[in-house]
Amino acid sequence: MLIMGGAVFADEVCELALLNGRVIDPESDTDIVRNIGIKAGKIFYLGTEAVETKKTIDIAGLVVSPGFIDFLSYDQNGTGEYYKAADGVTTNLSMHGASMVNFEKYFENTKNKLYLNQGGAISQIRLRYSVGLMDAYQKPSTVQIQSMCELAEKAYANGALGLNLSTEYLPGTTFEEELELAKVTKKWNALMTGHIRYSTMFDKKTNIDAIREVIELVRQTGVSFQIDHINSTGGTFSMAASLDLIKKANEEGLDITLDMYPYDSWATYLASARFDGDWQKRFQITYKDLQIANQPERLTEEKFKTIKKMKAPYNNPLTVAYAVPEKDIVTALLFPGMIIGSDTIIEPDKNNHPRGAGCYARLFQKYVKETKLLTLTQAIAMCSYYPARRLEGVSSAMKNKGRIKEGADADLVIFDPEKIKEKATVESPGEYSEGIEMVLVNGRIVKDNAGIVKGIFPGKPVKRDSSYFTLKKSPATLPAEVKKVKRIEITPVDKGLLSGEKQITSEKTAPLPASPITGEK
Ligand SMILES: [Zn+2]
Repeated sequence: MLIMGGAVFADEVCELALLNGRVIDPESDTDIVRNIGIKAGKIFYLGTEAVETKKTIDIAGLVVSPGFIDFLSYDQNGTGEYYKAADGVTTNLSMHGASMVNFEKYFENTKNKLYLNQGGAISQIRLRYSVGLMDAYQKPSTVQIQSMCELAEKAYANGALGLNLSTEYLPGTTFEEELELAKVTKKWNALMTGHIRYSTMFDKKTNIDAIREVIELVRQTGVSFQIDHINSTGGTFSMAASLDLIKKANEEGLDITLDMYPYDSWATYLASARFDGDWQKRFQITYKDLQIANQPERLTEEKFKTIKKMKAPYNNPLTVAYAVPEKDIVTALLFPGMIIGSDTIIEPDKNNHPRGAGCYARLFQKYVKETKLLTLTQAIAMCSYYPARRLEGVSSAMKNKGRIKEGADADLVIFDPEKIKEKATVESPGEYSEGIEMVLVNGRIVKDNAGIVKGIFPGKPVKRDSSYFTLKKSPATLPAEVKKVKRIEITPVDKGLLSGEKQITSEKTAPLPASPITGEK
């Protein structure tokens, strides 16, 4: 590959050379013009020499970053991954909960079908469904908790990266339930993530109570924990105080980290527990601050009430709430080690928050270029290196991501920092970001000047390392009490992964219907 002393070895010829790019690697804190040679999905050469290659692309003037790792996403669905690729995402992690509890099937279903690299966490919502807990307010029995733990163990044995709690959507979650699931997660050396219990300062229970609950959980179990989207849950109206609590917990030695999406709006179902009770007071908003994603107008009281009655999530449209003070976003973005996660994947009907398509372009456009809140290297670290580092103790595959160095995976995003632009809006969420010139997943180009390249599957599974523990007990041997509970078929969810069927994704996953979802679509 390298022309060194005139000797070029055929087996060293690269498949692709990217010349003269401005390579920014957050791990080594370098920002320097380099040539990159790519071979067999890896960065084979990084330097200033000429590269012997089959194909050469001159990328002078463009930034080369490690591919973005969407830490807080949902499963690929045959649509959303294209929007992610256009936004610079090369690894899509369903850390807000995968669409299946059965991770053996999860990875089987996606074998050779992944556009982006993909991994995920076990969903507490689906664990609860699996043991017959269909009501969000229902407390689990000891036996049900035990059964959930056994299902989680099996999922970990089959490659789950973590377990996602969604306590705000599942008000029936007990601390004992959290404790036992955290113990299992700790045992399997995985990461617990959490959409925590409260998201306001205008109620009896607040963000601060929710964060204290997490701190106590981590203190008692030693589990590693990442709080999901602190901008919308646990930090809104109290960001500085919330972050201060986390900082103090970190100083105590508790492993708690955070992620966020850089938007002053969030989105969920009106039928969810989040909109139960006095939501106007809790979120300091009213009907006119709500808008159904992919529709032009704000809500009225009448329309709100009609939609709220539609209990089934499959026909309850996702609604965006303009409810986050911009100063909270700015404060959170500056928290050391903050990880960016979109919390959405675009679905075929495009009834999604625009962050599913524009999260990363927005960060660079608004907070690097326009307001200069973050440096380019800082923003790149938040989108690639920090998420890789967070999970590399769970999955060694992550050690080769989030970095640009020889031997690293050739997951790369090449963009013009002056032109990068979010095009997605609440009115039209399904719009590709602009200014991202090229995206490579394991050395394959999935986006170039001509647009998105479809019909290829260069993504690889991201699994928890399998050698850590072996499973001792199969969930097939459930305690007698659970066997008696009619096992609820969660077919609409479990069949969703890449099948093209309607599935619950984005923040849409979170709400639990009041009635069993069997048969509802
Ligand atoms: Zn959430």
